[in-house]
Amino acid sequence: MNPARNIIHLDMDAFYASVEQLDHPAYRGRPVVVGADPRAGKGRGVVAACSYEARPFGIRSAMPISRAYRLCPKAIYVRPRMGRYAEMSDRIFAILRDYTDLVEPLSIDEAFLDVTASQRLFGPAEAIGRTLKARIRSELRLVASIGLAPNKFLAKVASDLGKPDGFVVVAPGKEREFLDPLPIFRLWGVGPKTEARLKRLGLQTIGQIARMPVETLEAMLEGAGRDLWELANGMDDREVVPGQEAKSIGGETTFERDTDDREEIRRTILELSDRVRRRLRRDHLFRTLTRAAILDHPTDVGDDLFREAWKLLQRVSLAGKRVRLLGVTATRLLAAAEPPGGQMSLFRPTADPRRRLARAVDAIQERFGSDAIARATLIRPAPARKKSADP
Ligand SMILES: [Mg+2]
Repeated sequence: MNPARNIIHLDMDAFYASVEQLDHPAYRGRPVVVGADPRAGKGRGVVAACSYEARPFGIRSAMPISRAYRLCPKAIYVRPRMGRYAEMSDRIFAILRDYTDLVEPLSIDEAFLDVTASQRLFGPAEAIGRTLKARIRSELRLVASIGLAPNKFLAKVASDLGKPDGFVVVAPGKEREFLDPLPIFRLWGVGPKTEARLKRLGLQTIGQIARMPVETLEAMLEGAGRDLWELANGMDDREVVPGQEAKSIGGETTFERDTDDREEIRRTILELSDRVRRRLRRDHLFRTLTRAAILDHPTDVGDDLFREAWKLLQRVSLAGKRVRLLGVTATRLLAAAEPPGGQMSLFRPTADPRRRLARAVDAIQERFGSDAIARATLIRPAPARKKSADP
């Protein structure tokens, strides 16, 4: 038997939309939809996030942007600013790491924390959870929902149920009481198919599953049967695995109109490479060898990324084709050997003058914004493409 654990699941409320409302006071209290340009209902792409004020209209994330526009044309539609969200995300995770090293990021705005051992220093887990919420609110002016429970599964369900601005605690011994009335789709691993199947058998609530003999479920769902039964009974032994962040960093652009303009494509690749390079350097991550066609050495230099990406694209025949979306992604990332903070030192000696340049450009963009300095090629206006957006 594992000793009792105290697991927190923290999830920011309507994260992208909340950052937009934070940065634009005029957006506050109004429906805000972050995603593709709706182009008066003719836009392509999807909703990346929406504020709580947009939800009564039926708008949800991942919905086609054209549909969102039909539901609420008066909403404020904005393109995502991933750099800004990543910056806020870094600040959120810095707060979380003040209380434990056991922080497992699930996405840009969501994490598990194991605060079991932190209690000796910071007091009871519930107090730690309250402090996290309070600090995020006072220091960042954003709202987080928190679930606190003896395991990951319960913590995640708890934070979901409390949204928005939630703080839900599942005390040890209360697992069944908490789960029993909930609908079965809340169980991990129950997709629409399994849900339909279980419902045909008259199973509606987690409690009904929990009370079934495990053998019956195993016979019905094979291997998944036992997992489901254990979750339904509030059992989940999974550890919080720290530091699994940023396996890949990418940027992409959806063209306003499909394009066959090679020069425009070239310029877009250059722009995307720069954007990825900035994030690589900020997060102290470097890209390393994958295969001959790609880089044979680690880099965080935008020119390298651009050259390789462009070389790859050259091999793609665009005859008779038009491009909707371009992406540049760096994978197989390694933490830099360089000490954190080193990248901001403008005049730190380095062998590669391009890295010195990149460092200086980073520092300028970090302080004055990404428009403060740019490649001459990127300053000329792009004819067919209005605005680009990160994924
Ligand atoms: Mg969230």
